Amino acid sequence: MALPELIYVRSDILAVTGKKFMQAFHLREGAKSTRVYCTLCFSVLGVDHPSYRNNVFMFFKNHCQTHFNVSQQPAAAIYLNELTDFSKAEVPLGVPVFHSFHFPQEQARFRKIVTHTFKQSQVGAVGQSLQDFIKTLGPVKVLNLTKGKQLL
Ligand SMILES: [Zn+2]
Repeated sequence: MALPELIYVRSDILAVTGKKFMQAFHLREGAKSTRVYCTLCFSVLGVDHPSYRNNVFMFFKNHCQTHFNVSQQPAAAIYLNELTDFSKAEVPLGVPVFHSFHFPQEQARFRKIVTHTFKQSQVGAVGQSLQDFIKTLGPVKVLNLTKGKQLL
C-alpha cells in the first residue's frame, strides 16, 4: 500500500490562478489544520498548520499538478499509527518511521529532521504566505466530520 506523500514547500506564493474555485476548510471545530481545496475536484491544494510557523505549507504529492521536482526520497514516514492496516505500508528502507508523536522522544527525534525544513528562510519572502492567502478566501468552512469515521 503506497502511503500518501506529504510535500512541504516554502510558504511564498507568487501567483494564484483559479482562486474562485478555492475554499478553506477545517475538518472539525477547533481543527489545527486549515486545508485549501479545489471546489471542482476537491483536490487538496495546500494545508496550513500552526507547527509550520507560516514558513512552509504542505500538499499531497499527486493531488495536483506542480512545477516542483517532487521525486526526492522522503525524509520520514509519520503517523503510521493512524493506518487501519500498517502491516502493508510500504516505507522505503532508510526512511525514519514515526508511529505517532505521543512520546517526547519521538517529538525530539522528529524535530532533528524537520528543524531545517520548517525554519524561516534567510531570504525574505517575495510573495504571499498560504496563511495570508487563506485570509483572502473568506470564512473557513467547518465540515464537522466525525473523527475516525470512514467516508467511502
Ligand atoms: Zn480541481
